[in-house]
Amino acid sequence: MTRIRLHDLDFELFLPEAEVNAAIDRLAGELRAKYHGKRPLFVGVLNGAFFFAAELVKRLDIECEITFVKVASYLGTHSTGRVTDLIGLNERIEGRHIVVLEDIVDTGNTVKHILDALADHHPASVSIATLLFKPDAYTQTIPIDHVAVRIPNAFVVGSGLDHDGLGRNLPGIYRIITPAQ
Ligand code: 5GP
Repeated sequence: MTRIRLHDLDFELFLPEAEVNAAIDRLAGELRAKYHGKRPLFVGVLNGAFFFAAELVKRLDIECEITFVKVASYLGTHSTGRVTDLIGLNERIEGRHIVVLEDIVDTGNTVKHILDALADHHPASVSIATLLFKPDAYTQTIPIDHVAVRIPNAFVVGSGLDHDGLGRNLPGIYRIITPAQ
């Protein structure tokens, strides 16, 4: 299936499942080398990161913990930049090595907010791992430490990412087809 319709929008296959898997394999290798023996706490950002988090941690044969938080983030096809508090972070953060898991980093407003909130809890270190990164949309200065795939600045779905609730279950990544003007 290379072309799909979700609600009112059309999408075409951009990255097949095998390429997404290969990118996550590579990222898992990076994280294994960096965090072996440090018992990292992975913090997945719901809803979108559920897919990436599961795919990543099943490839990590190191001692680690995983938890999930929720932030209000996105409406429609453009990032609003509005986020609220972290919901659901019950683990002790102080002195821990934290790896924030994101489905996608777009403007970077969400990761900035999350890192600010985590800093209040005095972790030993914090890094960011994301399935997708849009460098052309990024407006922050914080380095995005671990990126599975860099993509152009277009709206995508699949592998955990949705359009108004649909598309999260699609393997691979699909890119919006913009109608000719
Ligand atoms: P940021 O705060 O970096 O601008 O955006 C982060 C959030 O916006 C992501 O966690 C995701 O929920 C949403 N987002 C950004 N770009 C896209 C996209 O291309 N597709 C989808 N489905 N969500 C996106």
